[in-house]
Amino acid sequence: MNDATGTRTTRPGGGDGRAKRRVAGRAAPGALVPPAEPRVSAAFGPVDSAAWREFVGRWLEAQGCHVGEAARGDWEVALSPELQRRWRRQRVRLVFDPLRPTLPRGAWFTAPGSAAGRKILDAARDEPALACRTALPRVPGAPAEGLAAVCRVRGLTWGTPRLGPVRYERRMAFHAVVTLWGGLPVQESWVLLLDRDRSLVEWQRGRELPNVRSRDGLGPGQEPLQGDECARWAEAARGHLDALLTGREREWEGTVSRLREDELSRLSAFFAARVEEEEERSRRRGGNGDAPELEGGDATSLKVEWERRAAEVSQRWALRTDVRLWGLEEWSWPVAELEQGLKVGAVRVKLVSRVDVARGQPELPACPSCGSAAEMLVRVRGAVACEHCAP
Ligand SMILES: [Zn+2]
Repeated sequence: MNDATGTRTTRPGGGDGRAKRRVAGRAAPGALVPPAEPRVSAAFGPVDSAAWREFVGRWLEAQGCHVGEAARGDWEVALSPELQRRWRRQRVRLVFDPLRPTLPRGAWFTAPGSAAGRKILDAARDEPALACRTALPRVPGAPAEGLAAVCRVRGLTWGTPRLGPVRYERRMAFHAVVTLWGGLPVQESWVLLLDRDRSLVEWQRGRELPNVRSRDGLGPGQEPLQGDECARWAEAARGHLDALLTGREREWEGTVSRLREDELSRLSAFFAARVEEEEERSRRRGGNGDAPELEGGDATSLKVEWERRAAEVSQRWALRTDVRLWGLEEWSWPVAELEQGLKVGAVRVKLVSRVDVARGQPELPACPSCGSAAEMLVRVRGAVACEHCAP
């Protein structure tokens, strides 16, 4: 069944072209549903039938279909207008039970590798899923100690933190599946979150952004992004992802290179021994002089074979990365300003930082002297400095 799910998955470049077009103006409710992927890593195990069923159901609902229970665990699905056009029918009955000897008329047997399963996967893969979500603010929106929670101080005293009003800003999350091929392939889910300037706020190896509670839909006053705008975000996300992947590939290369070298050295040891045997044999046969060269034919073909096999091994371990962007989430994200004084002797310095109110987490404050994000601030001659700019 993996063969069916595998063929169309990897699309170098992420297929963003279509993402851009499809993204315009369609906001499916509900959480993003990752399409079932071929499981290249043994750690995942085969696609579980319950998980498959859940995926199909959530995907159909996210597409705007109505899924109803039917007899014997089947589903009766009223298709969305778009899927009606695509599949040229209004309704379909889905049968999941692989042991059912006969199907009701017009019903589809739905497993990842069945004809219907392929249809569903094809449709699911055609375009990234799109969702709109609002991250729920945490109460309180910031830690009671304010910036002291993220920034240590020496020779300075924090004043009382003041949290400004919560406002919602646009953020975009891009969900991708990254497949690292070469030797022992691995597949990973990645999420990137971009803020309104399209700079990278955070990224995770995983399916979801952690520690965020959310609800469907955007916050007040935020309209879903349309066509071109969306494309620009996708492009920015792709740039960030490529930069991150470079690091991941280096790491991956480090992991597999040792295994590759092991395999190559076993191969070398094997062929070196056989070449030596062969040369020894022809020496014995031919005695001294030019004979070994004349009869060295077998050793030569061994060396040719050795080279061929070594090239094969290197090729099998060569790293290739496929990225497929499968989902976009537009977020309304609660943020606020956090203002807090620092007492330096008689002088008071005001620090301002941004707070991720969804997590109640302030960003590191900027150092008043050099402006870089500071994990620690110290007092230097009556002024405030970070560890980088303190003399
Ligand atoms: Zn500094």
